[in-house]
Amino acid sequence: MTTSAVSTFQAPKGTYDLLPPDSAVFLAVREAIAAPLRNAGYGYVETPGFENVELFSRGVGESTDIVSKEMYAFETKGGDKLALRPEGTASVLRAALEANLHKLGNLPVKLWYSGSYYRYERPQKGRYRHFSQVGAEAIGAEDPVLDAELIVLADQAYRSLGLRNFRILLNSLGDKECRPVYREALQGFLRGLDLDEETRRRIEINPLRVLDDKRDAVQKQLVGAPMLRDYLCDACKAYHEEVRELLGAQGVAFEDDPKLVRGLDYYTRTTFEFVHDGLGSQSAVGGGGRYDGLSEMIGGPSLPSVGWALGVDRTVLALEAEGVTAAVPATTAVFGVPLGDEARRVLFGTVTELRKAGVAADLAYGGKGLKAAMKAANRSGARFALVAGERDLAEGVVQLKDLDSGEQAPVRLEEIVTTVKERLA
Ligand code: ATP
Ligand code: MG
Repeated sequence: MTTSAVSTFQAPKGTYDLLPPDSAVFLAVREAIAAPLRNAGYGYVETPGFENVELFSRGVGESTDIVSKEMYAFETKGGDKLALRPEGTASVLRAALEANLHKLGNLPVKLWYSGSYYRYERPQKGRYRHFSQVGAEAIGAEDPVLDAELIVLADQAYRSLGLRNFRILLNSLGDKECRPVYREALQGFLRGLDLDEETRRRIEINPLRVLDDKRDAVQKQLVGAPMLRDYLCDACKAYHEEVRELLGAQGVAFEDDPKLVRGLDYYTRTTFEFVHDGLGSQSAVGGGGRYDGLSEMIGGPSLPSVGWALGVDRTVLALEAEGVTAAVPATTAVFGVPLGDEARRVLFGTVTELRKAGVAADLAYGGKGLKAAMKAANRSGARFALVAGERDLAEGVVQLKDLDSGEQAPVRLEEIVTTVKERLA
């Protein structure tokens, strides 16, 4: 076996592998986002990586980019039409409805999830075909406190990671009373603009999405477009005002963004996005909002709900952009260096004891000599090496070496765990 041979295969376009040491940062980000949710009554939910394609075309919306362009849809040998999940909300709601969670007890049903999502996009930095999200959904209650709670929890998650240069954009998309009136007014305005064929089509099927167009030439023409803000019905206005006040009272800063629409059809009322200024054009690190109509769209009862999804990949990039080192749990603290077969057996026992006692410990394998084993110890980042040769074992000791100072002293075998724990404390 040679170690220089490289596999014929590479990760597919738009994907990448998570490998140590960077993978530890991903885990830390997932954990940091999950912690505030667990602490706020959200239970963990896991759904399949693929679903009936209809769930997404109905739930996310035929007219969205996600469904019309980005979905990995396929037919199985058995003739089922499935799609790799492009997002989490539709699946989580489907699962909650299927299990009748909304009938079991108190509403809202609060759930959080973490997993892989798939979109056939043009790959670039921060935009991948396989990416990771942690999300939260509060299903079955209409209460501005819930909208505010979710925004506060995301804010807390980002702050706990040490992120500072993110902003919260907030808007209301109205409801089934006021949005149709606005939609028509907007269509009237957009039809008078100089736009390409595809955008003209979009005016007819999903005009709000035109506001979200990233191109300057389009944005310039949108000056003076009617704003949803001016069309909100009294109930939507009051609801939105309440969310804004609740956030303000918790000291969470946000910016009103009357043009924020987001890509999914199912949003109503509160909609928000977390953007980071160090990420170039892939600036959204997370987003969410209220989706009061989704349950009915997928055949369920009326269940007003709100949720968000935060992108793990972009959050990691945001940490890098800010130069923040995520608090990654310590890796190896103690590294065993056995010299000879007997030492290997003994140190394997010692390392097992240390691990049981909660001390991260590793070992040199493969009968390495002293030099190579010490190199491995240093590379592991361990604080201490436990070096054992025949003479040490005959005396019932191993050498405990401080890898920072280089100091070394014998420690009796039966005292290693206590000694190491003391020295590490
Ligand atoms: P964008 O406008 O950048 O395409 P989006 O509105 O499609 O984002 P959402 O569907 O709201 O994104 O997903 C929530 C979060 O998931 C995003 O804010 C982002 O952090 C992450 N995300 C979405 N698509 C991708 C992707 N292709 N690669 C990496 N992260 C992504
Ligand atoms: Mg997108």
